[in-house]
Amino acid sequence: MNANTDNANAAWIQRDLERLWHPCTQMQDHEWLPLVPIRRGRGMWLEDFSGNRYLDCISSWWVNLFGHCHPHINNAIKQQLDELEHVILAGFSHAPATCVAEQLVEITPDGLDRVFLADNGSSAVEVALKMSFQYWKNLGQSRTRFVTLSNSYHGETLGALAVGDVGLYREIYSPLLLQPMVAPSPDCYDRNPDEDWETHSRRQFAAMAELLQENADDICAVIVEPLVQCAGGMRMYHPIYLQLLREICDELSIHLIADEIAVGFGRTGTMFACQQADISPDFMCLSKGLTGGYLPLSAVMTSETIYQAFYAEYTSMKGFLHSHSYTGNPLACTAALATMEVFSQSDVLGRNRRIAELIMSQISDLADHPHVGEIRQTGMITAIELVADKASKSPYPWQERRGLRVYQHGLKNSVLLRPLGNVIYFMPPYIISDDEISLMVKTAREGIELAVK
Ligand SMILES: *Cc1c(COP(=O)(O)O)cnc(C)c1O
Repeated sequence: MNANTDNANAAWIQRDLERLWHPCTQMQDHEWLPLVPIRRGRGMWLEDFSGNRYLDCISSWWVNLFGHCHPHINNAIKQQLDELEHVILAGFSHAPATCVAEQLVEITPDGLDRVFLADNGSSAVEVALKMSFQYWKNLGQSRTRFVTLSNSYHGETLGALAVGDVGLYREIYSPLLLQPMVAPSPDCYDRNPDEDWETHSRRQFAAMAELLQENADDICAVIVEPLVQCAGGMRMYHPIYLQLLREICDELSIHLIADEIAVGFGRTGTMFACQQADISPDFMCLSKGLTGGYLPLSAVMTSETIYQAFYAEYTSMKGFLHSHSYTGNPLACTAALATMEVFSQSDVLGRNRRIAELIMSQISDLADHPHVGEIRQTGMITAIELVADKASKSPYPWQERRGLRVYQHGLKNSVLLRPLGNVIYFMPPYIISDDEISLMVKTAREGIELAVK
């Protein structure tokens, strides 16, 4: 890198920091932690204005599935752009929205036959919560409570934030938020040393069952992230929990909301995580990978039964009068259709299984490291939990920001990793090559050594 091209980055950084307020960032950090201005993306790689390249091992915040500037998705969007960029979806319709709805019904679990479109993940969660509440109201029942799992994450608008349980995001705003009932997570990191995943997740279900039985008449819905609590540190659990939860929700007439915003579209090894438990939720929220990581779009899938509870004469006020300006944007829907076409063009899930095995085979020995508490994997998500003390699994104090050292080491070595506190994780686009896996794992291992020094 010569001085000239280095200046290209510097100029953009300066202009950016003069005006932009970045997401999830203490802006003062950028006095010493360089912002990275990206000029272009191709496949697994991002390139900055000075010509440095970065292997995108986090799928650009878990959204990208088939790499940057995928030719098929690019072409589809270009064609749609010359037909129709956007139109109101109330009273009007367009082919991409209709086709997306048809396709989603086709590929999601049985019984999810109705599709409500929105434009980001948090909005999808808001929609599911409001629909569930109003469903019971339309039936003449006044239920007001929601049940969530400890350490869960469902987005950051006030309603979605309320049903989450990650202190970092929630605590400051808690005086503003509705209060969910919180059941202990089935997260298997906390299992007893002699327990397997299934036994632990089953055991954790007892508290959920009790909570639901005691409050059934007041509960609209239970909301969960199926199999992996991603923002909560890539914590994972056994599908048996979802099966048991589905059974008890049926028994007590409580809705089950599956937030598959992060885990949907092949992340956990199956197209949707719920399929590993062989269940259908009453609401399924989708976003992130839905458009292959191209454009903001989200969908709430639900049943004909729930749809019918809103279907009545206008003056009954039973309609779902919720909207977002960019609901079902045609370009975003086109990106989603093209993404689903890429899935149908090859055995993506089969290839992912091989990739996941390769990643694990290269990192699994690190489980013996004195500062690694656990290495866990569900499909295309692999996580390494750093600990201050291995025996007690006590974490490093968050103030030490150990994970940040791994991030910095990654950037110096052309690899974008973005740990969640003490949890280093891999969540790459599905097109990652064997050589790129080796680079990703090698760089993470070096970063971890530096971080625990
Ligand atoms: C990212 C995420 C959301 C929020 O989606 P946004 O598009 O960022 O609002 C909700 N739930 C889960 C599980 C997520 O990972």
